[in-house]
Amino acid sequence: MPQHVPTDLPDHLQHFIGGEFVDSLDGTTFEVLDPVTNQAYTTAAAGKNDDVDRAVTAAAEAFHAGPWPQLLPRQRARILHAIADIVESRDRRLAELETFDTGLPITQALGQAQRAAENFRFFADLIVAQRDDAYKVPGRQLNYVNRKPKGVAGLITPWNTPFMLESWKLAPALASGCTVVLKPAEFTPLSASLWPDIFREAGVPDGVFNLVNGLGEEAGDALVKHPGVPLISFTGESSTGQLIFANAAPHLKGLSMELGGKSPAVVFADADLDEAIDATVFGVFSLNGERCTAGSRILVEQAVYDEFVERYAARARAIVVGDPHDPATEVGALVHPEHFAKVMSYVEIGKGEGRLVAGGGRPEGLETGNYVAPTVFVDVKPDARIFQEEIFGPVVAISPFDTEEEALALANGVKYGLAAYVWTNDLRRAHTFAQSIDAGMVWLNSNNVRDLRTPFGGVKASGLGHEGGYRSIDFYTDQQAVHTTLGEAHTPRFGVR
Ligand code: NDP
Repeated sequence: MPQHVPTDLPDHLQHFIGGEFVDSLDGTTFEVLDPVTNQAYTTAAAGKNDDVDRAVTAAAEAFHAGPWPQLLPRQRARILHAIADIVESRDRRLAELETFDTGLPITQALGQAQRAAENFRFFADLIVAQRDDAYKVPGRQLNYVNRKPKGVAGLITPWNTPFMLESWKLAPALASGCTVVLKPAEFTPLSASLWPDIFREAGVPDGVFNLVNGLGEEAGDALVKHPGVPLISFTGESSTGQLIFANAAPHLKGLSMELGGKSPAVVFADADLDEAIDATVFGVFSLNGERCTAGSRILVEQAVYDEFVERYAARARAIVVGDPHDPATEVGALVHPEHFAKVMSYVEIGKGEGRLVAGGGRPEGLETGNYVAPTVFVDVKPDARIFQEEIFGPVVAISPFDTEEEALALANGVKYGLAAYVWTNDLRRAHTFAQSIDAGMVWLNSNNVRDLRTPFGGVKASGLGHEGGYRSIDFYTDQQAVHTTLGEAHTPRFGVR
């Protein structure tokens, strides 16, 4: 298959520190592959301790000396809206680069680019509308909250929807008045290389946004351990989150952790089966299945199980897998050969754990590239690895249940607790069941459509802390309490004889 290669691909990606594009101080680089040929198409500067230190120094200077934290919320909001305008005006180029670097289908990458713009608009509006608490004790005291940006925020992001997830952290951090150092995922640094020009054109002062490319265990680790970075917002695997937690502990840093998931989609017999099938197919196969909130375990009530399985498998077999740049493609190429090997190993494990009814390997006709056919295992037991472990690819486990209690035990019987999806037309059951699920987010009779004002985050191994709406602003700011006496200060008079 001839590959679409974007024009003007950069042959090298640098860091962006203090308003300048720079290489690593020791000159080291790493190769970046595209997921269709698995050939290196560019190199990126590999940041180390010294480079991170340089970036933190630039960000700290911009924070302490620069105008950014002192700008009126409206002034920062104008710049954030300008960023959104620029992102929107470049959405096609962004999607083209993102698709080339990640293997995400182009139509879905375009949606993610537009969502990135929306994140900036949302936090621009929010910061202007921000209000803070004031408490009055009549005649005696006035207490109010003085909100202050925390300083240099360290942002560490994964490769699945890189540009959008970066925007999810950059927008609230910048809206709050923090300055930032971003460490994007090493598999997918391409779209992040567009941020410096976007920010510059929108009027973000030098030093406010800094980008250090590199490996997690080098650049990411240095950011986590840097004493000049009081808070880290991290999205990635639960095991990496645990490591970052431990590494940040000696510094008592603020942490926001958006981690892995193995989210259940629970389909009761009274559900609208057509809608449930549409949503559960989309829920695990969109974004190549490389989606933290994927409904990767589908629990189906026995009465409709056989019908559901038959229809679901037919839909999965009909999904269009192919060239990520083709607008007809529904599932593209997985991000990297290492991840492809991991997903394929789960496909093999699944063959011993469940009944394979769709996929099970490479799709026909796609002999190279990181392509995996949408794969459906049914009759999967709850102790199976494909039921318990996050695969992060186009692979789903379907299991039957008889009673509501059994469905709840299955839904909650994993270490993760990010999202859950419930399909039923029984109003009371919908709410009681939803409220009993160990998940940070539940969708009732709905595909994963998120209102940006709502909390985003997981419980158990899926994360710590919630972002979304004002919660994001809370993370990037300190709420200082200012207590004022009105009238006489009623102080017990020690030392008065
Ligand atoms: P990783 O945890 O491997 O990496 C995430 C980021 O952390 C990367 O930038 C990585 O660098 C960096 N990193 C790795 N090791 C360290 C370290 N020791 N110190 C500091 N930084 C480090 O996740 P993936 O990139 O593989 O992303 C997939 C995971 O992300 C899945 O588990 C998925 O569920 C989760 N995710 C969660 C979401 C949520 O909101 N809950 C949303 C999207 C994804 P490098 O790239 O070099 O490894």
